[in-house]
Amino acid sequence: MSASVVILPGDGIGPEVSVQACRVLETIAARIDLKLKLEEALIGGAAIDSTGGPLPAETLEMCREADAIFLGAVGGPQWADVDVDLRPEQGLLDLRRSLGLFANLRPVKTLPALAAASPLRAERLAGVDIIIVRELTGGIYFGKRGRSETEAFDTCEYSVYEIERICRIAGRLAMQRRKKVTSVDKANVLETSRLWRETATRVYKDEFPELEVEHLYIDAATMHLLSRPAEFDLMVMDNMFGDILTDEASMLAGSLGVLPSASLSVTGTGVFEPIHGSAPDIAGRGIANPCGAILSIAMLLRHALNLGDAADQVESAVRKTLESGARTADLAAVGGGESLSTSAFGDAVLAQL
Ligand code: NAD
Repeated sequence: MSASVVILPGDGIGPEVSVQACRVLETIAARIDLKLKLEEALIGGAAIDSTGGPLPAETLEMCREADAIFLGAVGGPQWADVDVDLRPEQGLLDLRRSLGLFANLRPVKTLPALAAASPLRAERLAGVDIIIVRELTGGIYFGKRGRSETEAFDTCEYSVYEIERICRIAGRLAMQRRKKVTSVDKANVLETSRLWRETATRVYKDEFPELEVEHLYIDAATMHLLSRPAEFDLMVMDNMFGDILTDEASMLAGSLGVLPSASLSVTGTGVFEPIHGSAPDIAGRGIANPCGAILSIAMLLRHALNLGDAADQVESAVRKTLESGARTADLAAVGGGESLSTSAFGDAVLAQL
């Protein structure tokens, strides 16, 4: 079997974690006799500096032709003052829109080995295994916007079609799990959320009658996620609510640095990336946690290449590495223990593999 994967390292710690992710991908590929074609391309601030724009046409073309795309992270203070359409983050939004990556999957699973790194008490964290499904190409991040000297506006729009397709992906995933869906909205205030709740209710009743369905308002959901995290299995929500709730959920796992994500399109093209940003505060110091990036490789193997066993092996190697006590600085800080550099942590994962 062969596969072409485009690597978009991006900015800040993006390139640092991407190196470790690629080492893991190459190692597992060699083990399972997968012929890999890895190609690197520019995105974000790195692309602005070289080409003038955050998503060069060449990068988009390479991504369209690839079997899967891995992304590090984009952004940084050095590009904060450029025109809004030329900011690094715009490159990522354009990539998501151009490839139709409407479904963002963010698994959050707690490991007993990392319980001390979470601000929550260990007994609350036991058994937490949630997947958050976030709509990624609609809503307020893609709506009409404007500003004058004294006012500004952003608009949130959703169509029935957009809500149906994300609810269906969530429904299919939930059927492979504990058959429970929590749909999150703000239907007591927002018109888009009322459409969301009506559509979700209909899709689950008509197409997934076996699912247990719960609806929560986003404000209540932020609270329930901390007070009863183990009761959730799959949560589905719009773009902005998902953006916020997944960062909150990362604290269950111990650090923003450990969580992976997959962004999928109707055709199956996917971008796989850690959920963290470019972390300018620690970039260049070789201390970033590469777990989220490496676990994104596991998601790439599972969702884009249909190699579930290989994905399991990568996840198991990361779990064993953490269980062995290996920690990067973000996690070691909590226990006061010694910390490994990004590359030394990568070595430890490879040793487990
Ligand atoms: P961030 O995720 O970059 O960092 C938040 C905090 O978490 C920082 O203290 C950082 O040091 C820490 N952190 C993040 N990842 C880590 C890792 N792997 N290991 C150890 N510590 C880690 O969020 P931010 O500071 O709000 O944003 C910084 C830049 O990243 C901004 O330009 C933002 O727009 C961009 N951003 C990009 C993406 C993306 O590329 N998908 C996502 C979020 C933010």
